[in-house]
Amino acid sequence: MKRFRSINDRAKLMVVLCLLLGAGFLATTLVSYYVSRNVLRQSIITTELPLTSDNVYSEIQKDLIRPILISSMMAHDTFLRDWALAGEGDVDQMTRYLKEIASRYGTVTSFFVSEHSRAYYSVNGIVKSVREDVARDAWYFRVRDMNEPYEINVDPDIVNRDVLTIFINNKVFDYRQQFIGATGVGLTVDTVNSMIDDYQQRYDRTIYLVDTGGKIALSGKGVKAPDGTMRTARSSIHDIDGLREQARSILEAGHGSFEYIEDGRRHFLNVRFIPELKWHLFVITREGKALDDIQQTLYLNLLLCFVITAVVLLIVHLTIRNYHQRLETMATTDSLTGLANRHALDLLLDQQTRDVARNNRPLSAIMLDIDHFKRLNDSRGHLAGDEVLRGVAATLRDNLRATDIACRWGGEEFLLILPNTDLASATLVACNLRESFETARYRFNERSLSITVSSGVAAYRTNESRESLIARADALLYQAKSDGRNRVCSEADDKDKGRRRR
Ligand code: GH3
Ligand code: MG
Ligand code: MG
Repeated sequence: MKRFRSINDRAKLMVVLCLLLGAGFLATTLVSYYVSRNVLRQSIITTELPLTSDNVYSEIQKDLIRPILISSMMAHDTFLRDWALAGEGDVDQMTRYLKEIASRYGTVTSFFVSEHSRAYYSVNGIVKSVREDVARDAWYFRVRDMNEPYEINVDPDIVNRDVLTIFINNKVFDYRQQFIGATGVGLTVDTVNSMIDDYQQRYDRTIYLVDTGGKIALSGKGVKAPDGTMRTARSSIHDIDGLREQARSILEAGHGSFEYIEDGRRHFLNVRFIPELKWHLFVITREGKALDDIQQTLYLNLLLCFVITAVVLLIVHLTIRNYHQRLETMATTDSLTGLANRHALDLLLDQQTRDVARNNRPLSAIMLDIDHFKRLNDSRGHLAGDEVLRGVAATLRDNLRATDIACRWGGEEFLLILPNTDLASATLVACNLRESFETARYRFNERSLSITVSSGVAAYRTNESRESLIARADALLYQAKSDGRNRVCSEADDKDKGRRRR
């Protein structure tokens, strides 16, 4: 019962320890995971994305704003204006001028449309005249009527096999600020998309140029999703799942950092307005690799915590078991002789008597006491007495079977329990022991010590109590003592009255 309770207590302790360790480890691991993740997010939002956005912005300035400057320069060119005001005389002069601009600045095309003649001059000469009732010419009339000095427009280029082209259309005024036509340059969308592809690759980000209505004006040739896969081009930011709800407020704000979830992944978005293009620059990144690394560290940490918890629990379990075993040994063993103590004998004898009832096998007890031990103590000292007690235990172990039980019953009294042994055999064992003790010599401080012992032998009777068996053996021992010591007194002798064995 006691043992059971201790096992129960041990299990409880292990569970509590396991919970404490597990909770402690889990808390620190999770807190450090969330802190690292937040630091990572903050660094993406406050540092990485704005930096990329700055870089891409300056690249765009270099690559896209230059054509704006070129077309603005053309619109203010005195040659162009003088030539137009002088009646657009030599077409070759204008063609040469436009060719020179296109080749010098690396644009795909350059043009001038005269308000006076409505002629469309290109690098190939006059290609057509613009008409108000033709849809493809609508751009010209829009430019003519707009308030801003220029616009950026994406249209097929009639001069260049209708390739989709980004035109920068500038209004041209005479010296009295009268509108006299439109001029500008064109870049193929392909060229600009390659530029964007180039930025996307270099910065490993998704980049869109978005007009004020949310239409994605440019997004590179192959639209690379932030996770690296190619995805079908989206024409508007309203088509992006996580952005739909925020799209209006993003466009209204015009700049800033935003977050959205798409395909179950968190995306970070940095927006800035490019006034020269009237487009928003969207730089997007997915919370990806770095988070994966942190997540892997989390799993590794959890595994480590599990292993450490398991090891700690194992160590605690073994220590407790060891400690418990030592306590048990201490509680059941006599420290001087190493024999079982009285407490242990109670348990062992209990078990033996139950075996007798079950198997109907004999069981005997020998109560053995050292003769005149007090004298030995008095004459040779207490330490010598202790040494003799240890020696007696050794002699008992040497002479008994492994199944026999030797117990230190009192100071110099020993109780021996012999399973499977009837009275006659037990008496024989006691006689042999008496002889062995008589001849045994124990050494203490270079001196040889000898003793004799007296014993009482009794056989267990079915259903009798432990106490009764011991009392009978004890009574026979007392008889052996009073009969002169150094002898064995057994129940058989008792019956025979007077026959004592030596
Ligand atoms: P008897 O032949 O009648 O048994 O005489 P005895 O002197 O052996 O018996 P008694 O009961 O008078 O004395 C036992 C002595 O054993 C007294 C006690 O000091 C001694 N003794 C008991 N335990 C120890 C022990 O652990 N070490 C030592 N050295 N002596 C012990
Ligand atoms: Mg004695
Ligand atoms: Mg005694």
